[in-house]
Amino acid sequence: MRILIAEDDQVLADGLMRALRAAGYAVDQVASGSEADTALLTHEFDLLILDIGLPKLNGLEVLRRLRSRGALNAHVPVLVLTAADSVEQRVQGLDLGADDYMAKPFALQELEARVRALTRRGLGSTGSIIKHGPLSFDSTGRVAYLNEQMVDLSARELSLLEVLLQRAGRLVSKEQLVQHLCSWGDEVSNNAIEVYIHRLRKKIEQGPVRIATVRGLGYCLERIANDA
Ligand code: CA
Repeated sequence: MRILIAEDDQVLADGLMRALRAAGYAVDQVASGSEADTALLTHEFDLLILDIGLPKLNGLEVLRRLRSRGALNAHVPVLVLTAADSVEQRVQGLDLGADDYMAKPFALQELEARVRALTRRGLGSTGSIIKHGPLSFDSTGRVAYLNEQMVDLSARELSLLEVLLQRAGRLVSKEQLVQHLCSWGDEVSNNAIEVYIHRLRKKIEQGPVRIATVRGLGYCLERIANDA
């Protein structure tokens, strides 16, 4: 799960990044509307946290452009951050296609709860459990189970498994994995992805699922037929 924070108050942005990273998300931050616009054109995100009062291009304009382009990230869930007293900003934000808003100042815990709800909605499911054969993943609690037993996975391995499970049976490219797992500050290469996949395989492939390598293209989480 990769989140973009567009917020020019650096103290607030740092607090958000710390909290969301600790909760297992990959997080990037920009401090102006024009940078947000560029980031949304070039990288795929699972959620946008958007301050309305941004320099260069205000948040409402960023949102208007995003929703009208119909391109990359056009349907990404958007949580707008508004000034406490501005009912007008909230109404405009929701009219332009924001999914939720929070008035400043807000409690971090509440923001985290809204982020969980919005990222679940982005997956097209209301429950937080993703299942595939004997594997299940609780995206709220950030815990994976194999045959009802909890699997001991690192934060990166959990994120990797989550992306593979969301697209079970379909090809996921290394580039997509890098995009979903890594923030810009992180040095994570395709080779590192291979290492994480290797570790993940050792932990989950005792059962009838496997992570197949599609040479030169990526990976696919597959079920092995019982009668094969
Ligand atoms: Ca601001």
